[in-house]
Amino acid sequence: MPPISSPPAPLPAAEPLQPQDPNSLFAMAVAATNRACDVIQAPAFVKAILGQPKAELIVNFPVQMDDGRYKMFKGYRIQHNNVLGPYKGGMRYHPEMSLDDGKALALWMTMKSALMRLPYGGAKGGIKVNPRDLSPTELMRLTRRFTSALGNTIGPEHDIPAPDVGTTAQIMDWMMDTYVNIHEGDSKQALKNVVTGKSLPCGGSEGREKATGQGLVYVLQELLPEFNLPMAGLRFSVLGFGNVGSNTALILQSLGAKLVAVADHTGFLRTTTPDAAIDAPTLAAHVAKFGSIKNFPLVPPVPPPAEAASSPSSSLQWTDRETFYRTPVDVFIPAALERMIDRQVASWLNCRVLAEGGNGPCTPEADALLASRNIALLPAILCNSGGVTVSYFEWVQNKQGVRWTLEQVDAELKTTIVNAARRVRLAAHQYNIDMATAAYVVAIDHITKAYANRGIFP
Ligand code: NAD
Repeated sequence: MPPISSPPAPLPAAEPLQPQDPNSLFAMAVAATNRACDVIQAPAFVKAILGQPKAELIVNFPVQMDDGRYKMFKGYRIQHNNVLGPYKGGMRYHPEMSLDDGKALALWMTMKSALMRLPYGGAKGGIKVNPRDLSPTELMRLTRRFTSALGNTIGPEHDIPAPDVGTTAQIMDWMMDTYVNIHEGDSKQALKNVVTGKSLPCGGSEGREKATGQGLVYVLQELLPEFNLPMAGLRFSVLGFGNVGSNTALILQSLGAKLVAVADHTGFLRTTTPDAAIDAPTLAAHVAKFGSIKNFPLVPPVPPPAEAASSPSSSLQWTDRETFYRTPVDVFIPAALERMIDRQVASWLNCRVLAEGGNGPCTPEADALLASRNIALLPAILCNSGGVTVSYFEWVQNKQGVRWTLEQVDAELKTTIVNAARRVRLAAHQYNIDMATAAYVVAIDHITKAYANRGIFP
């Protein structure tokens, strides 16, 4: 035993976490963060802090089903970092939602906020549930009970949820309404800012619904010229035709690009001739009505008058998974779930650029193969940051009691995300690194400066 009066031994410097399971999504996110920290020689304490979320909450709660029975559900909220501002990130309703995935998604939110220079940190959450299995009233009770179980974990100046996979503006409205009803505050109006992505009548922003797709298109407009890929006639395919996939396709088509293959959880659709295209607005209307691309008519119901005499033929076909991925395109946009592009899929892809619309679509093995095949990867933390950026604009409008026009929202989004794309391109050239690592570098450099100026309490 050392004598009581002897001074304490000096503590070793904080050690960065080493990911244990390489297949865990959080391990993937931490590995990418550590790589970027090494490039800029970020202090070890920054690496250590970013390698763990600040808080992880799991709630188990009952909800009454329409048949009168009660069912238990598991909900999550993970708060990764708040050095730059309140925690910010989506709520996901999905049967595969897990703590590990939530931790990764929360870390990516920290990176997106920092990369976009927003005064926000990163968080994520959600419920392990398939929302398609619930009636609208069950979904409402689930959302209200989850929000009440979260209590003071969320708040308009502390942690601000938004929509993600399986959640909508309607769900954000219920979340906001529940929070406002169970919390006291000087201003009920201010409490409404507890979530973003609300519907317009409930305080949402113009342009929020399409924001992630719009942001991705601004990034493509800024970066595709480097690959000599003009927008007019650009051939692209989309994996996932939900909020991100459909809005990206709609905007790209309006700029003259062609959607030549699309897939969702129900099937794979592609064109059969080089000139053909899938009409994005018609497909989006079908998905809005029926919930998926399933049974999308391959032949227009009414043939154009000039061709009415002959029987209409189709330039679309349902196809298998491999053929979908092998379809030749200029840009492939995964906008579904995580880890869907593995090594095998990466070997099938026939594209020049892969623009990550969804979070973490590629496994580390796929990343390596894509690089060796000279397929350029534009990273999710840049490509899909339009959502959090317009969420920030919604929060600012609600705080000030003002409404921006769609033109204002789009103009501010364009400035924010194009500037971020330019910072990423610059960092890639400066350090001679890929765009994905460069995006983390830009984000972590900003976070490191904030820590350097603030210091660590106490
Ligand atoms: P969504 O629920 O609106 O759509 C998800 C799409 O993925 C659907 O078309 C679904 O059919 C498809 N999908 C699901 N499982 C599939 C499978 N096994 N095979 C093929 N397709 C499948 O979700 P979203 O909001 O568009 O989010 C998509 C991705 O973008 C997620 O990674 C999400 O975290 C990310 N993201 C979303 C936003 C946003 O504003 N909504 C913002 C940033 C990032």
